[in-house]
Amino acid sequence: MTDFPQLDGFRGAPGVVRLIGHRGARGVMPENTMEGFVFTLNVGVRAMEFDVVLTRDRTPVITHNHHFLNAATRGTDGNWLTGEELKVSELSLSEIRQLDVGGLDGRTVYGKRFPDQVFLSGIRVPSLADLLDFAVQPEGQDLLLLLEMKSEPVVNGQDHDSTAIVREVVKDVRARGLEQRTILHSFDWTLLEECARVAPDMPRSFLSQMPERADEPGEDSQKSVAPDFNALGMSIPKAVAQAGGRMWCPHYLDVTPDLVAEAHDLGLLVSTWTVNETADICAAIDAGVDGIITDYPGRAQRILLSRGLTW
Ligand code: MG
Repeated sequence: MTDFPQLDGFRGAPGVVRLIGHRGARGVMPENTMEGFVFTLNVGVRAMEFDVVLTRDRTPVITHNHHFLNAATRGTDGNWLTGEELKVSELSLSEIRQLDVGGLDGRTVYGKRFPDQVFLSGIRVPSLADLLDFAVQPEGQDLLLLLEMKSEPVVNGQDHDSTAIVREVVKDVRARGLEQRTILHSFDWTLLEECARVAPDMPRSFLSQMPERADEPGEDSQKSVAPDFNALGMSIPKAVAQAGGRMWCPHYLDVTPDLVAEAHDLGLLVSTWTVNETADICAAIDAGVDGIITDYPGRAQRILLSRGLTW
């Protein structure tokens, strides 16, 4: 089996459960921003999960949805965006750079989900290149990248190059020699097949969420791009292993100790998302996962420490 050194940073061990900052540290810092990533690294959490979408000019930028959420985006005039949400794929990088994503509108459903997030101004959507450039600097040298590629669901059969994102992302990672610090990660298992062809030198992480789980308010659903997990004819860990994956990332409510043990027997790592509440963090630890993807790295650190564990 190919040895991928980055997997070591995601592998649990006796006394160790890995923490992975979700979009940086969304509970306390603006999500998917350089400020959030630097904060998370500075508190001693090396691994970052973040989301990449392509702009109109085919630049990978770090943002979660295919639209900029009005609840999290201000325009050049400093006012919240209103009306139809701006689509990432219809904007150029320079247009996206005008937006301010440093705060949440506390009147909105999404804003109310993260009442402890700081409010900053003048914060720009980073390109993937911005984060990778930081990762090769001395201050970013510990960073490990769990890089989620978002595939856009095909609408009305429109012509659509769904694998372009893989080529653009891999090009950016290779340009900085970060292949050994990156894991390619997606809900779209077809996209992950393309990753195996384009970048066999990088390990792949397979996301899953059972269809009965509710989608989170304010977030694009991934159900339309994911496999039909009830029709696999085998357990999800088995399917991930069969597809050549090295890590399985189930929704936290889909985790059981038996599935974690099965995944480990198959040689997979298991990191679960997005685990924010104390009881859920404890349940994930008890289930034996390798890693916990959380919006609240500080909260998770304190829980680990209280149990005599580290990350
Ligand atoms: Mg993600």
